[in-house]
Amino acid sequence: MVLTELGSKIAGALHRMTESTVIDEEVVDQMVKEIGKALIESDVNVRLVFEIQKKIKKGVDFEALPPGVNKRKLVQNVVFDELCNMLDSGKEPYRPKKGRPNVFMFVGLQGSGKTTTCTKMAYYYQKKGWKAGLVCADTFRAGAFDQLRQNAAKVKVPFYGSYTETDPVQIAREGVEKFKSEKFEIIIVDTSGRHKQEKALFDEMQQVYDVLQPNEVIFVLDGAIGQAAKDQAIAFRATVDVGSVIVTKLDGHAKGGGALSAVAATQCPITFVGLGEHFDQFQQFEKMSFVRRLLG
Ligand code: GDP
Repeated sequence: MVLTELGSKIAGALHRMTESTVIDEEVVDQMVKEIGKALIESDVNVRLVFEIQKKIKKGVDFEALPPGVNKRKLVQNVVFDELCNMLDSGKEPYRPKKGRPNVFMFVGLQGSGKTTTCTKMAYYYQKKGWKAGLVCADTFRAGAFDQLRQNAAKVKVPFYGSYTETDPVQIAREGVEKFKSEKFEIIIVDTSGRHKQEKALFDEMQQVYDVLQPNEVIFVLDGAIGQAAKDQAIAFRATVDVGSVIVTKLDGHAKGGGALSAVAATQCPITFVGLGEHFDQFQQFEKMSFVRRLLG
């Protein structure tokens, strides 16, 4: 079997280590080398890779170990912890504040799950007692307006959009102003996607961003796209100030190795994950279960 996923490669390296008859420095060095190679192949920043390699070796200091320690388990734990640390971007996502408008602008490629995720997040906050509203500023895709309107109706979240207005900047501005004047607290703006990263999309995104000056730009990343995730994240981040990432479709077979590379490359924290097509299949991101899944 060709293991192409980052998670499978790391899991493979760990497995070979645990299968060795003796766990010594040489075996650990070999495993660290393999993990480093897998990370570099996934375009994780080289400096970051060296750092994680160093930390794993430091965490596995056999000479300092009391007798009787299960070395295999220890190595596994150290690798697990360091992968979790890699997901710590060191940057705090925006935390919405009660009693004031908090504007979130969603960006991402078409099909990433952006519209579904906008609805999920509005629903998530509404259930927690926040006043949430949805704005459809996607004038590019036919059907986007109806899709978000229907989604909003299903979860009973107020919706703003226009069938006739073709300027996304205008709709975004009007929708946000309307919700602000009505004292909404969570204002979520769905913007256009495209099938690929292209200039027209980025120009439009930039214009909407300049006008809205949102509190947070959320990049929606399809968890199933593998290593293409990193380039996507970097391209979006280069255009607008992406503050956090939501990874979708982690209910399928995808292990999310691409998401790990994307986060490592952009240093943007993951806040939530999408776990299905239903609006309540949405959870706060949890590092440990993500890494468990990655290696599983
Ligand atoms: P957009 O083009 O980025 O706005 O994407 P949509 O929100 O229209 O979603 C594209 C497809 O992905 C739809 O069929 C959604 O139901 C599906 N989808 C979105 N999020 C998830 C998820 O977390 N899990 C699964 N299985 N499907 C999802």
